[in-house]
Amino acid sequence: MGVRPYHRRLAEEIMTAERAHITIFDTTLRDGEQSPGCSMNRPEKLRLAHQLDRLGVDVIEAGFPIASDGDFESVKAIAAAVRRPIIAGLARACKPDIERAWEALQYAARPRIHVFLATSDIHLQYKLRITRDQCVQQAREAIQFAKSLCDDVEFSPEDATRTEPDFLCRVLEAVVEAGATTLNIPDTVGYTVPAEFGDLITTIRQRVKGIENVTISAHCHNDLGMAVANALAAVAAGARQVECTINGIGERAGNASLEEVVMAMRVRPDRFAYETSVVGEQIFPASQLLSEITGVPVQPNKAITGRNAFAHEAGIHQDGVLKNPLTYEIMTPNRSGCPTQSWCWASILAVTRSAFAANNWATSSTAALSTTFTAASSGSPTRSSMWKIITCWN
Ligand SMILES: [Zn+2]
Repeated sequence: MGVRPYHRRLAEEIMTAERAHITIFDTTLRDGEQSPGCSMNRPEKLRLAHQLDRLGVDVIEAGFPIASDGDFESVKAIAAAVRRPIIAGLARACKPDIERAWEALQYAARPRIHVFLATSDIHLQYKLRITRDQCVQQAREAIQFAKSLCDDVEFSPEDATRTEPDFLCRVLEAVVEAGATTLNIPDTVGYTVPAEFGDLITTIRQRVKGIENVTISAHCHNDLGMAVANALAAVAAGARQVECTINGIGERAGNASLEEVVMAMRVRPDRFAYETSVVGEQIFPASQLLSEITGVPVQPNKAITGRNAFAHEAGIHQDGVLKNPLTYEIMTPNRSGCPTQSWCWASILAVTRSAFAANNWATSSTAALSTTFTAASSGSPTRSSMWKIITCWN
């Protein structure tokens, strides 16, 4: 073997160092399900919840139990069937919501009630029609009530990034005092930018009394395409939970994408020295299952899970990848469970081209392709799909 490239050495050194654990809170079944065309019924949600369990996420937000009877039954079924991760249910900051959430969650092995209340002036004034003082009081009482039912209570000040920071800290301090164990900071409208969001997390860590005893979380929307960058900035500033979804689905432009957050930490441990419990090889199966259930395809150029994420079109790239995949790839597709190994694709393309060039396609193609294919993907789940392509070409 030659000398290991500088960037690999650096990554390997960092990999062996102690890294902070980031809790992956998956909200595909709640926030994700709110995106148009992505609603799921109970059996579909259960199937996806089992896949999220295999994927190794720490928390599954299973739904919003008071929203509908269907949502309630789904949360209840997931709480009963999926026993390893924490199962969270969403509730507005009022008694009926919290009671309904608890009713659905109470038999979970590890239940969590997630209470939210908007804190920005625009939401208080126009949506909730309450004063700041009323907001603090309502948040405090809701958390106290949730805490009387469940030890694990998360609070989200909705529209936190458009909330006046002093007031945000005041609300957060009140809910910490009332027993919240996780403080989730949502960029509900996808408005913030990385440096600003990192500063906000720092401000919260500096100002909120009792913050050292709770977990800070980030929940970022992608309206300006910065959800993942914002989530990672929050982590760098001290957040230890990231809320995200498979394929980045969610309200409007979606949420931070789970696979992008996780793979950014794995490919760049020199910049993001954190670890998660996510099983890389289960990322692609999770993405595919979600698409299959919702009928919503993944955009082809989607990072990590899109069908072009590891495809090389330009000849110069194919040539490089054939000689050494690392020339044009920063990670191998199988790290995220992607079955279309690009070098296998590139090899097949190259063989096909030379077969055509030599004008002996009929005699050489099948044997050459089959050799390339066998060498490239022996024992991998790609066998049947790759054969389909080879057969097509013949
Ligand atoms: Zn959201």
